[in-house]
Amino acid sequence: MDDNIEDMTRIFFKLHICAVCGRYYTEIDNVGAHTCRYHPGKYDSFNDTYTCCSEKRRYGSTDYQRYMSFTPDKPQAYRSFSSGCTPCDCRSIYDNPLPYKDVDVKEYAPMLMFMKDVASRPGYNESKLRLERVKRPKDAQTIFS
Ligand SMILES: [Zn+2]
Ligand SMILES: [Zn+2]
Repeated sequence: MDDNIEDMTRIFFKLHICAVCGRYYTEIDNVGAHTCRYHPGKYDSFNDTYTCCSEKRRYGSTDYQRYMSFTPDKPQAYRSFSSGCTPCDCRSIYDNPLPYKDVDVKEYAPMLMFMKDVASRPGYNESKLRLERVKRPKDAQTIFS
């Protein structure tokens, strides 16, 4: 193995924790798999909604919920917003040597043999040979525009 491949292996097999859903993952399974969620739109503070899906802030989190015990299986019930309406890859809470942007498949070709079902991942763009981190909405402004 040359150094380059060793570096790649380290990057793709590093264990991360997702900042959004709290799951453990490695990039080898994560890139283009879209197992997480985000809001592609902007937050509209005037109307207290996201522009992508019009989700409204939940104001239930005051008196009643404050006295309920925290349930780790339903953390979203205690947030003002859901973590998202649109599929995307998990995002690490750690420094990630693989940036959170589209992955050029050719650049990381040696890793392909470790990736399961690359071609059937939702983020796989066959014409551009890329693994895309997020499902882009066709309309609207997004955080990636
Ligand atoms: Zn949304
Ligand atoms: Zn996640």
